[in-house]
Amino acid sequence: MTLALYNTMSRTVERFEPLAPGRVSLYTCGPTVYNYAHIGNFRTFLFEDLLRRWLEASGYDVFHVMNLTDVDDKTIKGATAAGQPLRTYVEAFITAFHEDRHYLRIRDASLYPRATDFIPGMVRLVQGLIDRGVAYRSDDGSVYFAIERFPRYGRLSRLDTRELKAGASERVSADEYDKEDARDFVLWKGARPEDEAVGAAWDAPFGRGRPGWHLECSAMALELLADKWGGEVLDIHAGGVDLIFPHHEDEIAQSCAFTGEAEFARWWMHGEFLMLSGTKMSKRFGNILTARDLRLDGVDPGAVRLLLFSTHYRQKLDWSDEALESAREGSRRLGDFRDRLVRAAGEGGGSGEDPAFVEAAATFRRDFSAALDDDLNAPRALAALFGLARDGNRLLDEGRRPGPTTLGALTLSAAVLDVMPESRVVLAPGGVEARGEVGPVVIRTADYTSETPPTDRPAADAWAVAWAGRRREAKLARDYGEADRIRDLLRAAGYEVRDGRTGVEVVRL
Ligand SMILES: [Zn+2]
Repeated sequence: MTLALYNTMSRTVERFEPLAPGRVSLYTCGPTVYNYAHIGNFRTFLFEDLLRRWLEASGYDVFHVMNLTDVDDKTIKGATAAGQPLRTYVEAFITAFHEDRHYLRIRDASLYPRATDFIPGMVRLVQGLIDRGVAYRSDDGSVYFAIERFPRYGRLSRLDTRELKAGASERVSADEYDKEDARDFVLWKGARPEDEAVGAAWDAPFGRGRPGWHLECSAMALELLADKWGGEVLDIHAGGVDLIFPHHEDEIAQSCAFTGEAEFARWWMHGEFLMLSGTKMSKRFGNILTARDLRLDGVDPGAVRLLLFSTHYRQKLDWSDEALESAREGSRRLGDFRDRLVRAAGEGGGSGEDPAFVEAAATFRRDFSAALDDDLNAPRALAALFGLARDGNRLLDEGRRPGPTTLGALTLSAAVLDVMPESRVVLAPGGVEARGEVGPVVIRTADYTSETPPTDRPAADAWAVAWAGRRREAKLARDYGEADRIRDLLRAAGYEVRDGRTGVEVVRL
């Protein structure tokens, strides 16, 4: 197996090799928490989730950092309009981001640093750039990066000087800052009264102010990488294509000018836009669909993931009701196959797995891995999964018996693509909670992913049922170690789980 990934820096697919064997540092630019992230933003986050999951499935220890931009023009504007301190204003959007992320089954990053928690590191970075003579202070108290003193500027975006100038001036026309060169970008913005009013200004040797957006990512990435593994070069830096210029170009300039390294990241990876009726989804165009809209509409996250993975991450994707409907249908079909397979495997009573199933699972694993190794070709990996469902259904029709190999293939697909519908556990009528007032309840396992039970009683009961369902799945997949671990987890929380004839029983001790 050889993983190859497209590198925006070289514009080619390169064989992936991390700096240190067996481990990968991954930095992904996170949301600016002034609003609800839309589904176009989440397309990027899902591409990064797929990248991270495939790296882990390939055996790498991944250190994944996603920052939260909680201080910039937009957050300050929002806090001002709401009449709240910045930290208070962004809190609700941070919570919402994590809720939406959980809904879409995006795995937890190792760390979610907030920019305002890393001001000292940002100040050190700016001071370092001033000391090295690549940054200067202007009359308005801001500090700028002098692009002409960093000859490699523009290497990632491959824009010529004229385009760089146009791009830079377009972005800063609204700002009344005083620069030597139109292309120069701001590292530190001198404090204005409106910044002070919402608590968005900090002291620094070069003047009171706040960090520029580009600076935030460089400072957090360098500081957290140094803490974790040491070193000043990331293995992979990822984001949406709109971040190539100027954001990532500026990150490279600041970081490399500071560290003296030739690179800031070995791989630069970028996800394409999501389009809605042929137009890029953007807050600016007002054609927004948020993850919470989908959640409130009861759209299964498996279907959303399936839709977004049905187009390669480097191609534009058109979101439409029809596409969503067909993704729902596809996800349902896969879920039905899973349920059928799990049932048939459970009825096997330990007898051997049919060789035809072993072969179908092996074919799936081969095609699935080859697809993802080829620059994360998720559409092809999905085709392999649908192929397994088609062949597997036929084998089940023929009365053949599936077993651990086939269940293992489904486990792999769930660990990486995770496109199947929520599994539902029905609390059996014999279960304690079903007796009396409640009746049979359907618990969505995905709502209870934490290993710590909620504090209120009904939620804790539902949590216990969800984990009992996971234990049952683990047993059916013959992962007895995991089943035992979950039993102990439940016991520690005060629940006993029993496998009854009518289903799983959960008893509060
Ligand atoms: Zn960034």
